[in-house]
Amino acid sequence: MRIVAAKKLLKANDLLAAENRAKLAAAGVAAVNILGSPGAGKTTLLEALFAALAHRARPAVIEGDIAGALDAERIARLGVPVVQINTDGACHLDAGMIAAALADLDLQAVDLLFIENVGNLVCTAGFDLGEQMRAVVLSTVEGDDKAVKYPAIFQGSDALVMTKCDLLGHTNFDPARVAADYRRLAPDGRVFEVCATTGDGIPAVAAWLLGSEGSGRERTET
Ligand code: MG
Ligand code: ZN
Repeated sequence: MRIVAAKKLLKANDLLAAENRAKLAAAGVAAVNILGSPGAGKTTLLEALFAALAHRARPAVIEGDIAGALDAERIARLGVPVVQINTDGACHLDAGMIAAALADLDLQAVDLLFIENVGNLVCTAGFDLGEQMRAVVLSTVEGDDKAVKYPAIFQGSDALVMTKCDLLGHTNFDPARVAADYRRLAPDGRVFEVCATTGDGIPAVAAWLLGSEGSGRERTET
């Protein structure tokens, strides 16, 4: 009984995700689902990316958190349109929540929509939100065994962004090991090493995001 119910729920989610995907495509918006543990540096990565994307793509953000609006306040301070979703305890975003949030955004004024998922390496992987790209954020202080221990979230992702690489000298985190483990799970995934607080490696992530938008999407007007 429980398995059937869960399957039905996922089926309903997939239908809503398809609607979101069509709505985003019609508005010319590329959406990227950002996954990772609490504290991996997802919001700090977004803050760094906005600077790199300036005058090249108009960003917006949907922030998923169990409670509060701390991350959305950080995004809003940078003048980027943001919608906060509070999941009231739910440990992942689903396509229905995104559908509701999309209604609060002016999609015609957006090129790149970042969906920062709830900090969670497990069940966020199971919910298609209608995104075009999926990126996993893993920081160097979380341990380099995570791709092996939590394969589902890395499988089917389009990029792995290793953050806090300025701390590598203070940990036994081996980026080469993580990259190798990731390649086994996502052979076509891109691997980035960044330090969002200094900006190291951020331009490469921005270039990937812009390239993934498809041809002719780069904005020339300001
Ligand atoms: Mg955050
Ligand atoms: Zn969950």
